[in-house]
Amino acid sequence: MNLKLIEKTLASRPKFRLTQAQKAIFKELVSDWSQVTVFPKELRDKLNIVCPITIDSRVYVSLDGRTVKALLTMQDDENIETVLMKHKERNTICVSTQVGCPLNCSFCATGKMGFKRNLEIGEIVEQVLFFGRYLKAKKEKVTNIVFMGMGEPFLNYDNVLGAIRYLNQKDGFNLGARHISISTSGIPDKIRKFAKEDIEVNLALSLHSADDSTRTKLMPVNKAYPLQRVLDALTYYQDKTHRKIMFEYIMIAGINDSEADARKLIELTKKYTCLINLIPYNSSQNSIYKVSTTERIAKFKKILESARVNVLQRFSYGRDIDAACGQLANKAHKKNRELQTDPK
Ligand code: SAH
Ligand code: SF4
Repeated sequence: MNLKLIEKTLASRPKFRLTQAQKAIFKELVSDWSQVTVFPKELRDKLNIVCPITIDSRVYVSLDGRTVKALLTMQDDENIETVLMKHKERNTICVSTQVGCPLNCSFCATGKMGFKRNLEIGEIVEQVLFFGRYLKAKKEKVTNIVFMGMGEPFLNYDNVLGAIRYLNQKDGFNLGARHISISTSGIPDKIRKFAKEDIEVNLALSLHSADDSTRTKLMPVNKAYPLQRVLDALTYYQDKTHRKIMFEYIMIAGINDSEADARKLIELTKKYTCLINLIPYNSSQNSIYKVSTTERIAKFKKILESARVNVLQRFSYGRDIDAACGQLANKAHKKNRELQTDPK
């Protein structure tokens, strides 16, 4: 979906046509211009040819029904993934920001794909609209967005912030900034830039280890931006915004899950108002790591709790549909259960 092209195509028409188009896309969540009956047929047909809003998709549903993963095909035939996670009252959409990722973390399926390109604003927005349409058919709504899909959001900073502005607009999709979170592997200058934005979006840091050598093994980006530089940027961010930071910590057996690792984590995070999210490592074929045992995760969590650190263990969503970032697009949907092709 090319939002700029839609605006350009409607520029020669009376102003209210653009307002009607925005209402149709973001509020009524139409999936085709032909549904926009306030437009003359000639305009609907033109828009369908010049700037279509249909989304080319395949949908996979986990056995427990709580995770829905969409493989969306872009105009240049690249595939990206978007995941819906259903949790009590919440419908959280996990959004991709790049095709692949240049940062090549050793545990991440997206990293293994290499980097193809950044996503455009419309391609980011359409992932949310896709599930907006899907949920509307079930009389439900998108309640939260996390930028935790494929790619590093802060390496596509302008388009991610541009997409957030569309999604946040009162007369548009109207999702509150506090319901939106960006996860970054830690790009210091972008964390500082983000601190100065006039929009109250949450920030999560993929920490995964509190010591530089382990973190570098897991995340090569730590060589370019070692922990101290990232942490200094986070201090700046928190001083400026007073917002809580989320630290994501994947639990990997024998790598970052010892008692000593827990103590280092306590030490590192104690100066921040924060929440630590323990995420069981989601292994795919050819994984070089194993997930920590349940007992180990429980023990690790207990050590943090006894130091009065805010900690949560994230529920591991959709293992049977490869819901961890990049796992599905990487496999080009070979062995997954395909249930639907489009929620239209
Ligand atoms: N590039 C950004 C955002 C996308 S990755 C970042 O790294 O933060 C989103 C989250 O998914 C990160 O915390 C990442 O570490 C995690 N992740 C990637 N592969 C995973 C796996 N196999 N199991 C569990 N979490 C994974
Ligand atoms: Fe990129 Fe994030 Fe995956 Fe690392 S974990 S390769 S930064 S998407």
